[in-house]
Amino acid sequence: VRLTVVGCSGSFPGPGSAASCYLIEAEDFGRVWRIVLDLGSGALGPLQQLVDPHRIDAVVISHLHPDHFMDLCGLYVARRYHPAGPAPAPLRVHGPEHTADRLLQAYGPDAVEELPKIYDVRDLTDGGTISIGPVTITTRIVDHPVTAFGMRIEHEGRVITYSGDTDLCPALVELARDADLLLADASFQEGRDDARGVHLTGRRAGIAARDARVRRLLLTHVPVWTDPTVVLAEARQVFAGPVETVEPGATYTPGPAVAVPVTAVRPVPAVPVNSS
Ligand SMILES: [Zn+2]
Ligand SMILES: [Zn+2]
Repeated sequence: VRLTVVGCSGSFPGPGSAASCYLIEAEDFGRVWRIVLDLGSGALGPLQQLVDPHRIDAVVISHLHPDHFMDLCGLYVARRYHPAGPAPAPLRVHGPEHTADRLLQAYGPDAVEELPKIYDVRDLTDGGTISIGPVTITTRIVDHPVTAFGMRIEHEGRVITYSGDTDLCPALVELARDADLLLADASFQEGRDDARGVHLTGRRAGIAARDARVRRLLLTHVPVWTDPTVVLAEARQVFAGPVETVEPGATYTPGPAVAVPVTAVRPVPAVPVNSS
């Protein structure tokens, strides 16, 4: 299984990165499955440098803040209005309750009839598990001002945990238990951002990584007004394993090298392809 950072700017797009979006690719009998974790503001652009939007198998939305779901509007247009016709089958979109309603509020009510033909929207649940091809994703509600899910992504014994947006909480540590990679929100800075129940600091991301005994910690969701080296230093004070801040385009393959073919760059598909 491979993780690629599409966008990692915290809370809104920055000059060098879109908001939250990560691509998971996993091979199964020669077929590559592509799962998008969050599709935040600005992310649909760089996503097309990595994958044809008609060849995505599923989108999983952690929560309904714009920096995590807003570009579902653009993906709707891409799949609905291609000159060769709409995508032949709806794309699976897993998100919190009311994801379809929020999408319609953002896009406009004229999409109400067409939306179910473009997106097959399903609710995530606390402790629930979804399967997308060979990939299993377990979701738990984490600690954020709106209903927000963390995710444990498993494929052939490898584990990638994505915190979504959260403060330190037991559900996050359970999701990250013995994970190969923990991709963790590190929006806040110790001593500056005092609010609790919103985001991790670098230090609290490090504590989660330490307590869950993860192999590698990746800090993300750092906003433009925060120096990444500060949250990195905080994490290193409490977590002895490898830790870094992520950048758009960075790719991580946990465990032994797995041969995953590089996805073709095809920004404008000639013909919509049924992704399922
Ligand atoms: Zn966010
Ligand atoms: Zn949020």
